[in-house]
Parts: sequence; C-alpha cells; structure tokens
Amino acid sequence: MTMVNGSIRSKVPGNLRRLNYAAPSVSSLLQETMAPRKPSSFAKNRPPASIPTATTSAADGIDLTDTKRLFESISTGKLLKSTAAIHASSFGPMVDLGTAVMNSRLMENPLARKIILDATEHTFYSHFCAGKDLDAAAATLSRLWDAGLSAMMDYGLEHADDNHSCDLNLHEFLRTIEWTKLHQPGQVSFVVVKITAICPVSLLKRVSDLLRWENKDKSLNLPWKFESLPIFSDSSPLYHTPKKPESLTPEEEKDLGLAFERLTKICDHALQINTPLLIDAEDTSIQPAIDYFSYSAAVKYSAAACTGEKEDPLIFNTIQAYLKDAKDRLAAAKKAADRMRVPVGFKLVRGAYMSSENRLAASLGAETPIHDTIQKTHDCYNECALFLLDEISGGGGSVVLATHNIESSKLAASKAVSLGIKKDSPCLQFAQLYGMSEALSFGLKNAGFRVSKYLPFGPVDQIMPYLMRRAEENRGMLSTSATDKMLMRKELMRRLRSPASWF
Ligand SMILES: Cc1cc2nc3c(=O)[nH]c(=O)nc-3n(C[C@H](O)[C@H](O)[C@H](O)COP(=O)(O)OP(=O)(O)OC[C@H]3O[C@@H](n4cnc5c(N)ncnc54)[C@H](O)[C@@H]3O)c2cc1C
Repeated sequence: MTMVNGSIRSKVPGNLRRLNYAAPSVSSLLQETMAPRKPSSFAKNRPPASIPTATTSAADGIDLTDTKRLFESISTGKLLKSTAAIHASSFGPMVDLGTAVMNSRLMENPLARKIILDATEHTFYSHFCAGKDLDAAAATLSRLWDAGLSAMMDYGLEHADDNHSCDLNLHEFLRTIEWTKLHQPGQVSFVVVKITAICPVSLLKRVSDLLRWENKDKSLNLPWKFESLPIFSDSSPLYHTPKKPESLTPEEEKDLGLAFERLTKICDHALQINTPLLIDAEDTSIQPAIDYFSYSAAVKYSAAACTGEKEDPLIFNTIQAYLKDAKDRLAAAKKAADRMRVPVGFKLVRGAYMSSENRLAASLGAETPIHDTIQKTHDCYNECALFLLDEISGGGGSVVLATHNIESSKLAASKAVSLGIKKDSPCLQFAQLYGMSEALSFGLKNAGFRVSKYLPFGPVDQIMPYLMRRAEENRGMLSTSATDKMLMRKELMRRLRSPASWF
C-alpha cells in the first residue's frame, strides 16, 4: 500500500496578510479561465454524452463485477449487518419515522432518549461511525488500513454557539491531530475540520452577509478582512443579504479574531505532523465565511510556496457541485491561487443540504441555488473533476473526489489515466463515507488509486445530525446505496452457495 500524503513540507507561516492588494476581479479571472488558453478549460472538458457504464472494466482498471475480490476483507457477519443497515436507512417510511422521533418531544424524556440513542448506537451508528472516541476509532482505522484504505478523521462536531463551545471543540481537533502521530504515515489521510465548530454560527452568518455585500459594493470597508482567494463568482446567489448589513461590533471582531486563532492553532499542529486538513462545506447562508476562513488560512500558510517549488497543500476546501455557481467559484479560486502561488486543494462533493437550501430560498422568495435537475448536478460534478484533473496533469493542483457515484468515479479515473496522471499520485484521491459504497472504494483501491473513508467518531448524540443526513441521502431506490445493496446481496448469495468461503 502506498503512503498517502506523506509530505507537506515544513513551511514558515507568515502573518495573515491584510487584504490591501489589488485582487483580480472574479469576472476577469473567469474570462481568463474560460478562454481557450490551454486544454484545461471547462468548456473543452464537457463530459461525453454517454458516460462509461458502471461495471464494465476499462482503461481505469476498475472492476465492480468480481464481488469476491471486492468484499474479500469483509467478514460474512459484517456484510450481513451492513446489508441490513443500508436497507433500513434507505427505506423511506423508516427514515421518516426516525426523523419524526428525533425531532419529537420524546427526546426530552431522559429514559426515552436513552432507549432511542442505545438503539441507534447498535444499528446505524455502529454502521456509519468509527466509535465514541479515538481509542474506539483506532480499531476501525487499523481494519481499514489492513484492507488498503486510509481514513479522514472527522470528530463529529456540529454547530457551536459561543466561544466556550468553540474552545472545547478546538481541543478535540487538536487531540485528533496529535493522535494521528500514533499511526503510520498515510493511515490518516486528512483531519476533517468544521469551521462551524470553531466559530459561532451567528458570527459566520454576519461575516457571510458582509462578504456578500462587499461583493456587491466594492467600496464597503471590511477592516478585519485578511487576504483570501475569491469566494464568489458573477453567478453566486446574494439573496441571503437583501440590505446592507451593520458593520461588525467590536465584540464580534474580537470573536472573529478568536476564531482565526483557533484555526491557526489547528493549522500549526497539522503542519508539524504533515497531516493536511479537509474543511467541510455547509449551507449557503454561511458558506462564504467558511470559504473565507479556508482560503485565508491557505494564503497564510503558503509562505514556503513562494520559493517556486511545488508544495502539497495544507488546506483542502470543499466545493459543492449541486450549486449553480460551483464551477465558476472553483475556477476563480484555483486561478487566483495559482497566480498568488497559494497551494490549495479541493474536495469535490455534490452536496448534502439540498432540502434545507431549497426551503430557505423558497422562504426568501428566491430562486434555489441548487441545479434544477440531478443531471445538471452530475454534469457539474464531472466538469469540475475534469477541470481539476487537467490542472493536475499540467503540474498544479490536488483533488479529493468525494463521491459514491460510480459513473463520476469511473469517468474521472479514465480521464486521469488518459492524462497520464499516476494512479497513486498524491494529487488525486477518491473518498467515500464510512459505511457507504464499499464496492466502489475497494474497486478503486484494487485498480491502484488512493482511497480514503470519511470516518466520523464521537458520542452518539453528537453524531445524530450526521446520521440524519446519511439517512436522507440513502432514501429511495434510486440512491447510490441501491448498487451497494445489489453487490452485497450478490456476494452474500455467492458465499451462501459456497460455505467454505465464510469467514
Ligand atoms: C468524503 C466525503 C466528504 C463529504 N463532505 C461533504 C461536505 O463537506 N459538505 C457537503 O455538503 N457534503 C459532503 N459530503 C456528502 C456529499 O455531498 C453526499 O455524499 C453527496 O451529495 C452524495 O452524492 P454522490 O456524489 O455520492 O452522488 P449521487 O448519490 O449520485 O448524487 C446524489 C446527490 O445529487 C444531488 N441531487 C439529488 N437530486 C437532485 C436534484 N433533483 N437536483 C439537483 N441535484 C440533486 C444531491 O447533492 C444528492 O446528494 C461528503 C461526502 C463524502 C463521500
């Protein structure tokens, strides 16, 4: 097994630079990006009308037909349990019932709450999560590593409301980073960071509003703002901020400073032990502030990149392809990063907040920021992936293709091979959530690509919002979990027919 992300070379972080440089405008960056300057522009990389079929073997070497090989590291007991968990989590009425119970007053009754959390722990939690703490997660990490997979460690923290909870969360992030030292290089490919856990969400909303307004009115002065990369494009939705927001109060500015200090501590620790950080994306009401945090940190930690050598990024920011402005924003950030010689990686996902985004836009009388059809989301994902692969083949860029979608994975894998990107290149990684798409993870790994599982851990009640999102995602027969179920059933049938292969 090749090592994953072994070397973010030591960098001397400079102070955050105040934003007083003449940043190129987003539209000029886009014009440049979209112009036919080299074969990496999106326009030249539209996905083919017909994408390779899911299970055929091609130049990418991904074979999803041989279930014996795909599931060889999974015991029959675990396979049975996983099949049951995925069936249950994709059964619509069950998801509705679970959601209703979780949001009901039953959860306020201590006994009922304990019963519900215990039941969850022994079913969905044990399928989708690595354990309640780092010790428990270590066992899962070892199992994954033995099977040839790395892990992205995600301490299950959701939104923080005040500085005290942010400080507690910071402590957990630092502990997780320290803990990766106990393991072989590459076993932990990334530590996942949620900006919402280290900066109060109300402040992220305020900062997002101000950034949106500044995008509309360039004369707006934001004295607290550090140098960053573009976070909007001409197509970005601005409906969340209908009128000019008040400036940050001195107390809010102080809190923002504290949040940056927290992120700086996390970056310093991660840098010391050569573990890159993966910053999760959330909903559009706060995403501008999250992008701003990520890109400012990337700029701050780019000092060594100015020597002219290629650097591995410390920060990977997330782009959600279900957003109509995803491609434009990605291109703008990437182009500015190249121009400013800021190493930054991208995690590409489709996006997990579709219902709430649609609801919020409708409630504000605005057009949804999400693509009108799932096919448009698929196209956007594929185009963003191909854009980044082109960039990588041209010598700059790093991407984590975080998806369960077999077509997108195969398309990207074939493209990488055809561009001459080595399958084990540290610049290209695939990732799936723990407990989902085992066949795809192993298919990619068997073909020689680097693959990680996104591994949440933490107390059961803290992980509930994450589990609810997974249930929502798996709902219905057309979800990606349908292929998982089909392949697992096939393997279970094969083992039933030849009991000698049980283990
Ligand atoms: C490693 C990893 C990290 C992740 N991190 C994040 C994160 O930081 N932030 C985040 O938001 N999500 C994150 N996710 C979750 C991710 O967004 C979902 O797993 C993903 O949306 C499921 O899509 P898929 O690529 O697996 O493909 P599919 O299952 O093929 O696509 C389903 C997705 O398509 C989109 N979609 C569905 N219907 C429509 C429609 N009618 N119109 C438009 N679009 C539609 C939705 O995004 C839906 O989730 C992460 C996932 C992984 C694997």
